[in-house]
Amino acid sequence: MMNDPDHRTHEDEHPHVHSAACGHETRKHGDHEDYEHDGHWHAKDGEHYDEHGDAAG
Ligand SMILES: [Zn+2]
Ligand SMILES: [Zn+2]
Ligand SMILES: [Zn+2]
Ligand SMILES: [Zn+2]
Repeated sequence: MMNDPDHRTHEDEHPHVHSAACGHETRKHGDHEDYEHDGHWHAKDGEHYDEHGDAAG
């Protein structure tokens, strides 16, 4: 969906590779895991990362 407001991709470069041992906080989110990075949650989606919400609290 090109105009899906919930599908926001991480625009900037993302040289860091998230993994189970990378040290970032993780949470279960449906059928995948999000990583907390720089104040928000995001998850890998193919070749890019999608923003999955603010890490409030
Ligand atoms: Zn990480
Ligand atoms: Zn997610
Ligand atoms: Zn990240
Ligand atoms: Zn995506």
